[in-house]
Amino acid sequence: MAESVQSQSINNAVLAVLNNSYANEHTNQERSAVPAAAEPAESLASSRHEFGEHGGVNMSIEASATFTVMEPDTLRKIFTGELGPDRDFYLYSRHFNPTVLNLSRQIAAMEGTEAAYCTASGMSAVFCALLQLCPAGSHIVASRCLYGGTFALLSKFLPRMAAVKTTFVDARDLEAVGGAVQEGETRVIYVETMSNPTLEVADIAGLSAVAREKGVMLVVDNTFAPMVVSPARLGADVVLHSVSKFISGGADIIAGAICGPATLINSMMDLHGGVLMMLGPTMNPKVAFELSERLPHLALRMKEHCARAMLYASRMEQLGLKVIYPGLANHPHHHLLRSLANPGYGFGGMLCLDMGNEERANRLLYHLQNTTQFGLIAVSLGYYETLMSCSGSSTASKLSEEEKHFAGISPGLVRMSVGYSGSVEQRWAQFEKALAACAKDDAAGDITN
Ligand SMILES: *Cc1c(COP(=O)(O)O)cnc(C)c1O
Repeated sequence: MAESVQSQSINNAVLAVLNNSYANEHTNQERSAVPAAAEPAESLASSRHEFGEHGGVNMSIEASATFTVMEPDTLRKIFTGELGPDRDFYLYSRHFNPTVLNLSRQIAAMEGTEAAYCTASGMSAVFCALLQLCPAGSHIVASRCLYGGTFALLSKFLPRMAAVKTTFVDARDLEAVGGAVQEGETRVIYVETMSNPTLEVADIAGLSAVAREKGVMLVVDNTFAPMVVSPARLGADVVLHSVSKFISGGADIIAGAICGPATLINSMMDLHGGVLMMLGPTMNPKVAFELSERLPHLALRMKEHCARAMLYASRMEQLGLKVIYPGLANHPHHHLLRSLANPGYGFGGMLCLDMGNEERANRLLYHLQNTTQFGLIAVSLGYYETLMSCSGSSTASKLSEEEKHFAGISPGLVRMSVGYSGSVEQRWAQFEKALAACAKDDAAGDITN
């Protein structure tokens, strides 16, 4: 227990002891191994439950930037690393904050990694993980289908700022991935569980075997599929999240998480040179508290996102539309995703409709939002409302025409993050009505042209 607890009133001290005895029981269990449950919701539920300072069912928010100690010598011991957060000794909240640590423990339990730490954004999680793993002059092998920001980071920013070069490959081709690894130079193989926006599924188990054989780390961005796929349980070394998306679910917070071995996470927090300590992409503890309140219903939300995406995708397919959804039997990675996914969640909450060209895509978006209120024209994902965008001219606009073609992004691709507000039939009727409005426009266009 931290020495500072000794200065609290008797009542609080009693509560703190009670809380700690409960916590210790679980902490010991937690320290002995990675949580045993292989199912993300079960694993999350069996992780340590934090109580509030006054016995509240929710944890307290530790809103302090700095922490006091009882003995002057304790500070020296914290700086030498003899005492640290693992024994409830805290120093400064850029380094470690107990509330952020509690959220991080929950996310580590969900992903089945030994440790995790949360950051101020998904991009800072991506950037910090790669900087910590890849020294100047080293090399990364990455999928050619990546989130636009990550693609820009790997293709332009890292080579210029850190002399870290990336070879982009078709990550479906395991031989090509292995072949692109440069002995002694490559540190990381980098993929997304489900690629943005084309919904290619990464063969995480296969890629993990390649990474092991070559002695490099497999880093997986699991933003599109929390709960649905558990990359670390399939052999990934590091799992990254933009917590701004499904995990938050509210489209009101920007946040990220890095999940991985304790040695890596600890090295990132190292007081004298860890990337998180040096660059400081710190999560606010008030934000960490809010997010920890949303994790317990993430499994329920994911199941509903996935169920509705599956239903709409099959109905759209029946209407003769060109749908890309890994839950459909005609998707090239349907069987792969079946073999990787945790049972009972489904196939993800994202689907894409190829409308052929940008003009038709934009017309559909217009009617879906403004004529029928099916969803909102906006980037991002994981919100309770359906979010829709034309990828080629929005999230993937950082790519050149050639790069878009290489990544399989057609100009008429509409990406949808399927929400769960309203009833299924209400929403479907809105979709059909918007489609009919588009057909009417098309017909009018034929007459005038
Ligand atoms: C949004 C996103 C990111 C970046 O996350 P931010 O929280 O916006 O910084 C990274 N990867 C993927 C797959 C994303 O969708």
